[in-house]
Amino acid sequence: MGIPYVVITADYELFFGSETGTTKNCLIVPTEMLRETLRRFGAKMTLFVDILYYKKLCDEGRRYPHLLEEAGAIKRQIQSLAKEGHEVALHVHPHWLDARYEGNHWVLPLHRYRLHQLSQVKDLSLWETIAGCFTLSRELLESIVRETEADYRIVSFRAGGFCLQPFRDVRETMKSNHLLIDSSVFPGGKCHTHELAFDFRNCPGRPFWRFEEEVTEERGNGTFLEIPITAIPVTSWRRVCHALLRRQGGPWVRYGNGETMAIRDASFRTPRWKLFAKPFSTSATYLNYESMTFKEMLYLFNRYLSRYGGDERVPIVFLGHPKAISKRSLCELRRFLKEITSSQKGVLTTLRGFYGEIAEDPLSSISPYAGVTMR
Ligand SMILES: [Zn+2]
Repeated sequence: MGIPYVVITADYELFFGSETGTTKNCLIVPTEMLRETLRRFGAKMTLFVDILYYKKLCDEGRRYPHLLEEAGAIKRQIQSLAKEGHEVALHVHPHWLDARYEGNHWVLPLHRYRLHQLSQVKDLSLWETIAGCFTLSRELLESIVRETEADYRIVSFRAGGFCLQPFRDVRETMKSNHLLIDSSVFPGGKCHTHELAFDFRNCPGRPFWRFEEEVTEERGNGTFLEIPITAIPVTSWRRVCHALLRRQGGPWVRYGNGETMAIRDASFRTPRWKLFAKPFSTSATYLNYESMTFKEMLYLFNRYLSRYGGDERVPIVFLGHPKAISKRSLCELRRFLKEITSSQKGVLTTLRGFYGEIAEDPLSSISPYAGVTMR
C-alpha cells in the first residue's frame, strides 16, 4: 500500500463576482483560522498567492492610501507564514491588470482572465505580456518573502482558474523562472467559457507525473512535475447523498464576504435535474476543505488511494480558498486531519515537500534549502 502525502493548498485571493469581498474577511482572518487549524497537527500549507491583487493594491494605493494598509497586512501575513515554514507559491489572475478601485469597491473586467489572453511578445519588462506578467509576478512575490527569508525561492505554480493550456505558450517562461511544480490540473475536469478554458479529461493514469510540452502528457524526463489536485469521478446519486449529509450539523457560513464569479458552462457544474435523472453518470469531483464533510473527504481519500495504492507515494492534494472556508468547514478538516494523523494513515506535507521526497534532483541541491527539512 502506498504512502499518502496530504497537501493542503490555499488559493489566497478575493472573490471575482459582483462583490469581491474585503482583504480582511477574504484573506487575513480566514487564513489565520486555517493556520491555527493546521498548527494543531504540525501541518504546513502551500499558499498560492494571487500576487496581482497585491500589486493592484499598491498601484491604487497612490490614490487611496487605505489600500496601502491592506497591502501591508497581506505582506506581513505572507512573511509570517513563510517564516513558520508554510510554502509560498505563485498564483496569477491577470484580470487584476485591468481592475480599478472606485472609492469603495473594485471594478473587475474579465476579458483578460487567462494568462493566455495576454500578449505573446517576449518582453519581460511588460506586465501586459505572458512572459512579463509571469516573471514580474514571481519576482514581486519572491521579493516580499525575501525581506524576511533571505534566500527564499518560489518553485510551485497554480494557474488562475486552472487555465494552463496550451502549455506551450507558458513553458519557456515557467522554465526561465525556475518553477518546477505545477498544481493546476484536476483530472477529469473540463470547462470552456470566455473566461475559463481547460480540459483535463485525458490525464496520465498516475497520481503525479513529469511533463514538458503539455501539462496532461507525461514525459519521463520532463522539466516540470505535475502534482494534481486530487479528483475522482463521483456518481450523481453519491453527490446527492453527500449534499444531504452536508445539511446535517452546523451551518456553512463563509468568512469571505464576496460573490463567486458566475460560470456559464454546463459541463463545469452539474445541473440538478441531471443528478436525479442520471444517477449513475459521473463527474470529476475535487477534494476540497471548503464545502466537504469529514466523511466526504475520507470517501475521496480512500477511493483515490485504492486507485493508486500500488504506487509508492500518493500525493493527496486539497484545493481550498480562505475566502470560502467557514467555522464548520474547519471543524470538518480538523476531523479529517485527526483521523489521518492518529491512525498514521498519511504524512502531512507541502508541494515542495513532496517534490523533495520524490525528485532525483532534490530541491536541496538546487535551492538554498540545503539541510533544511522541506516538510
Ligand atoms: Zn485563483
